[in-house]
Amino acid sequence: MRTGQINVQTENIFPIIKKFLYSDHEIFLRELVSNAVDASQKLKFFAKNGEFKGELGNLKVEVILNNEEKTLTIRDNGIGMTAEEIDRYINQIAFSGAEEFVQKYKGKEGAENIIGHFGLGFYSAFMVAEKVQIRTKSFKDGSQAVQWESNGSPEFTITDIEKTDRGTDIVLYIAEDSLEFLEKNRINEILTRYCKFLPVPVLFGTKTEYIDSPEGEKDEDGKVKRVAVDVDNQINNTTPAWTKAPIDLKQEDYDSFYRELYPMTFENPLFHIHLNVDYPFNLTGILYFPKIKENVEVQRNKINLYSNQVFITDSVENIVPEFLTLLHGVIDSPDIPLNVSRSYLQSDGNVKKISAHITKKVADKLAEMFKNDRADFESKWDDLQVFVQYGTLSEEKFAEKARNFSLVKSTDGKYYTVEEYKDKIATLQTDKDGKIVVLYTNNPELQYGFVKKANERGYDVLSFESPLTPHWISKMEQTFENLTFARVDADTLDKLIKKDEEIPSKLSKEDEEKLKPVFEGALKEKEKFTVQFESMSASESPVIITQPEFIRRMMEQQRMGGGGFF
Ligand code: ADP
Ligand code: MG
Repeated sequence: MRTGQINVQTENIFPIIKKFLYSDHEIFLRELVSNAVDASQKLKFFAKNGEFKGELGNLKVEVILNNEEKTLTIRDNGIGMTAEEIDRYINQIAFSGAEEFVQKYKGKEGAENIIGHFGLGFYSAFMVAEKVQIRTKSFKDGSQAVQWESNGSPEFTITDIEKTDRGTDIVLYIAEDSLEFLEKNRINEILTRYCKFLPVPVLFGTKTEYIDSPEGEKDEDGKVKRVAVDVDNQINNTTPAWTKAPIDLKQEDYDSFYRELYPMTFENPLFHIHLNVDYPFNLTGILYFPKIKENVEVQRNKINLYSNQVFITDSVENIVPEFLTLLHGVIDSPDIPLNVSRSYLQSDGNVKKISAHITKKVADKLAEMFKNDRADFESKWDDLQVFVQYGTLSEEKFAEKARNFSLVKSTDGKYYTVEEYKDKIATLQTDKDGKIVVLYTNNPELQYGFVKKANERGYDVLSFESPLTPHWISKMEQTFENLTFARVDADTLDKLIKKDEEIPSKLSKEDEEKLKPVFEGALKEKEKFTVQFESMSASESPVIITQPEFIRRMMEQQRMGGGGFF
């Protein structure tokens, strides 16, 4: 037997990094800004543990465009690197300095705030640049500043340079096929997308602000003049709400953070859940329950996934259970891998655990709200029910909990849990097989006559308006023994064993015989319906057309076809 070492040929690996590592070229900026943030966080950490005794100053990351030179520079005043460190961290591909740092200082507060993981991020610069320079000076006393340069071939040069300030400039000479990354708006857009909540200020250019005249100049009315000044354009909010303790936040803070996430949304969410887990994985975040509108697709997939405050993706389908994609908000977990493909994410063990955890939290929150303030919960139910039904239909774990707080609404406006409702109607609404029959309408206006008729007989009718009703009904029939549902216009009504005397028909037998074929003739598929004559209250229709519940469901299914719930 022989063991050996696989030889990684950098000539081969470069084109792979360039082409395939990231499908989206724009994320080079996320990687380089994250490295700059890491460099700042490390220095903060060293200041705390005594390894760095100098002035921290204003730690910040600057992104600088130079259209003449065709360069984009990412500048930080973090720890910098010595020539030896460049050899170690940059010249060895896939050796992650970030990972090494986290391992070395494991367990110490602040050490876990480092973003990097895989030691590949830096090289994403070559997706957009034909030449990259690192100009850097380490924070260590008496360090010599150095410049590393490479054009993307495996060769590099390293030289001593003059640089007085601590920190690193990464200078990208943007390639001809990537000139979009020299456009101010494009860079602004990318930074806003990925860096909006990074923990160290990220500055890009300047913006105009209006302030009171510093000289105290007055206008004609004697008011202090407002003057325009150019100020740094800071991209990010370094302390987004989800990173704070729930106890430090008020309802307004949650609402205003919601608008920070979705500037185009004006409506406040129904309520939120602040997630904060540190075992067996790290997870923070805030999930918002929106009012569910008719068109759920518009509201879907608004959850943003972050890792240590770095934006990863806003398409969380397949990462969280599908019904949770109706929620809005932020999930942040350093345990969600940053740089890997979506198919990998789906099968990742941590991601699965996180999904299960969130499902549980959401169910627990709803259960708690139901228990603590039922009136309030009922007032929100109409906007919540699609979400709860969706969860009930798609996640068994959720369904188990949801059966205790899933509500049904009677046509008289009262709310019941299914269990409560079952008890309420048991005596009157039982059929000859001993099944308890829930009567419902999915269109109270159209089915008004039927509802009225049922009520006159003393039956209760539920009002179901959710598009998921047919699926949810089947689920409830499986969940609750002896429970069956029938739409109020089904022929079920007459089969309930309520021993009321028959209400006589208003028409003579003769008239009935004459009229029946007329009605039947007007029906398209007359064999699927029954025409009945009987009186309701005097002013109501003397003729009703009913249909067996199972035939109606069959027709409904044919109409809906297969596929998803919506
Ligand atoms: P990772 O961030 O996963 O460790 P990268 O390829 O992004 O991998 O970076 C490799 C290493 O290079 C970093 O871990 C860090 O040690 C070093 N480095 C990169 N950028 C900077 C910077 N701006 N300041 C200081 N060190 C840096
Ligand atoms: Mg990195």
